[in-house]
Amino acid sequence: VDLPIHDAVLGGAAEFGELPALVDGTDGTTLTYDQVDRFHRRVAAALAEAGVRKGDVLALHSPNTIAFPLAFYAATRAGATVTTVHPLATAEEFAKQLGDSAARWIVTVSPLLPAARRAAELAGGVEEILVCDSATGHRSLTDMLASDAPEPRVDIDPAQDVAALPYSSGTTGVPKGVMLTHRQIATNLDQLRSVASTGPGERILAVLPFFHIYGLTALMNAPLRQGATVVVLPRFDLETFLAAVQNHRITALYVAPPIVLALARHPAVDQYDLSSLRYVLSAAAPLDAGLAEACAKRLNLPPVGQAYGMTELSPGTHVVPLDALREAPAGTVGRLIAGTEMRIVALDDPDRDLDVGEAGEILIRGPQVMKGYLGRPDATAAMIDADGWLHTGDVGRVDADGWLFVVDRVKELIKYKGFQVAPAELEALLLTHPGIADAAVVGVYNDDGNEVPHAYVVRQATAPALSEGEVAMFVAERVAPYKRVRHVTFVDAVPRAASGKILRRLLREGA
Ligand code: ATP
Ligand code: MG
Repeated sequence: VDLPIHDAVLGGAAEFGELPALVDGTDGTTLTYDQVDRFHRRVAAALAEAGVRKGDVLALHSPNTIAFPLAFYAATRAGATVTTVHPLATAEEFAKQLGDSAARWIVTVSPLLPAARRAAELAGGVEEILVCDSATGHRSLTDMLASDAPEPRVDIDPAQDVAALPYSSGTTGVPKGVMLTHRQIATNLDQLRSVASTGPGERILAVLPFFHIYGLTALMNAPLRQGATVVVLPRFDLETFLAAVQNHRITALYVAPPIVLALARHPAVDQYDLSSLRYVLSAAAPLDAGLAEACAKRLNLPPVGQAYGMTELSPGTHVVPLDALREAPAGTVGRLIAGTEMRIVALDDPDRDLDVGEAGEILIRGPQVMKGYLGRPDATAAMIDADGWLHTGDVGRVDADGWLFVVDRVKELIKYKGFQVAPAELEALLLTHPGIADAAVVGVYNDDGNEVPHAYVVRQATAPALSEGEVAMFVAERVAPYKRVRHVTFVDAVPRAASGKILRRLLREGA
């Protein structure tokens, strides 16, 4: 079946009726499936009445709340394209996204109103700013729930119409609007469902942001489509997170590597009853196998599974199936999902396919490949070739059983005298040092013109005396000479994106 995303996700709402769909992890407010279904339809009607038309872009600017999914599905039902905005974006960043996407509507929350107002002023072209909660002078979703306007009849073509316009994380360059059609998102949900289903009785903790495609998919669309309960937290704070797992009897965690690190290492973990958990899945950034193992052992769970994807892939292509967590080799990001093709090609020659075990660039073709970057045909053509293969920019290899291993990004590989060094490998190694709390590695050029690894290291509170020399020596004793870390700088924190990715660009600029 080919449905718009709101129908694809909420089509089962009638069946799940009184089951809790969304729970506010802060105050316990609960929305049943029936309520989510009725409420989002009323908001859709009110949006249409306010003037939202098919093809309008609506910027959804909010931390995770139980209203976020209502706003999202209401907007798509009214025919709008939703561009999700980082709640901590500055007014200038927000304005850029508004301008680039030609957004006509903003839905925000009252604490973020000043930034939204300023952004709208800077960008121009915004018709109205709505709020999820209530705030003076703005229409709110709560007001809209009282609307008796007729439900809009919008003709949506799932194959062509853009449902979501997330901006790529901007880890490596300028954020670009990624056009994802209703069909691309819905198809990817289908593809993932058979391997990682979260149905009635499952309780998911939505702590990763809904505005990022990973949270949108794994924490909102997939569980709501399948009848699970989503407990929503507005931001990550370890103790609040652990308390929520305990108090809401959370059954599954979909997280990013920094949370796996905290679960493996942080002393607070032992103070909570986490026995309701059945598995942990990590995605969005490289996860060290040793860390994954330590986390699973500590929580007495099957091995931590991984998934792989990117915004431009709606977002998934690989996952470790839940029934294969124990058999999957350590460190794999999973197996190719159904209906998707992959090639691994030589870095210096994309026409040359590599053999099993050889590392090269990952190319993907399938129904989940984005429609393109908004207004950037050149960038789109650089990413998707004439045969429909999307060049991920990631380096990976596949073993004989079809398990994919992601080595690093092509752009991040450090080229030292003809050898290639993956920062992710050195970061994983550094994290095994008991005195190191966090680490990031970037390539820098030495005076002799060679690119060498530079490590930025956060010391554990228990190891204030750890020295640069000790860190360099620790690595040198464990890797081939060309991979040695040549420079070490101690920092207070490693800059990361909301999805957990290291912002190496910021380290380089500060270096
Ligand atoms: P930009 O493209 O704007 O620089 P970004 O690539 O960080 O930003 P996303 O689409 O959020 O934006 O991230 C996708 C990338 O995340 C992938 O290309 C890959 O490098 C990385 N990634 C995702 N899952 C994994 C995983 N399981 N292991 C390692 N890396 C992963
Ligand atoms: Mg990318």
